[in-house]
Amino acid sequence: MAEVVHKTIPLALPLPWQEDLWQGFIERIDQGRLAHGLMLTGSAGIGIERLGMALAQRLLCTAELSKYACGSCKGCQLMVAGNHPDFSVLEPAEEGKAILIPAVRALMDKLSKTAQQGGWKVVLISPAENMNNNAANALLKSLEEPQAKTLWILLSYRPSLVSATIRSRCQVQNLPLPDTATATRWLAEVSGDQERAQQTLEIAGGRPLLALEYLQGDSLESRHSFETLIDRVRQGDMSPLDAAQQCQKLGSDQMLDWFMNYLHRLATGELQNNPNPALFDFSDKLRKARGWVLSGSNINGQLLWEELFMDWLQVFRQRR
Ligand SMILES: [Zn+2]
Repeated sequence: MAEVVHKTIPLALPLPWQEDLWQGFIERIDQGRLAHGLMLTGSAGIGIERLGMALAQRLLCTAELSKYACGSCKGCQLMVAGNHPDFSVLEPAEEGKAILIPAVRALMDKLSKTAQQGGWKVVLISPAENMNNNAANALLKSLEEPQAKTLWILLSYRPSLVSATIRSRCQVQNLPLPDTATATRWLAEVSGDQERAQQTLEIAGGRPLLALEYLQGDSLESRHSFETLIDRVRQGDMSPLDAAQQCQKLGSDQMLDWFMNYLHRLATGELQNNPNPALFDFSDKLRKARGWVLSGSNINGQLLWEELFMDWLQVFRQRR
């Protein structure tokens, strides 16, 4: 039996670009109209996890009439300490792995006992697309037979991979990319980096939490090194084989994102008036490669990158 580890959780508040949605949730809670299954969908890096946690904490907060979780009542203290008995998280044992049926069964067992604090029970599933078929089927029964004051929050970055039956039992709320002004303001404030906020947000494809990761970590530097590789291969300065070897040090799906972003900038910038049709074919190849990597198939990274870089070289060779 695995040891139960309590992780402390910071008090979560919705992000500035989620305020309208938040207000809607609060109204529905107050009016007792909240769906019992809620699926929050959107790109990674825009904060759907944050919204899910904020909602869980707000429901388990016992303070009267507060818009956000108060942070000081017993419910909030239990949440922040990471051991609220009426809050459960269903997630893969390891990032990127599947959520399996034993985990769902353990959760059902826990839920069959009444809410220990006499209020809401909240289950957060993250990400929902990681449930395998058996796990999803086991869960379906609970979604079909709603229990009073129990909220299921399902997070999904790729909702098309969640079974249609599960989706149909939930109220699906898609979160779009935040507007640039709000996101830039937030990023500058949180990172304390006024100068690079806007540019980094752009590099992160408008996803502010990803941009924050770039600003706080060494990702920006890694990305710069990666783009240097792309340039060198393109100019015939480095062989696809050597470039592929360099790539082994970085995580593939992130680099594929960077590569696509680079193509986009190339097509809308430097090559705007001189389009290169081979670029579109190459972009398709990148998308396919990304699909393989995300599907969790066992991929030989060296081979994948060698092939991609050889194709990349061809994109510019064909023009001469
Ligand atoms: Zn509270």
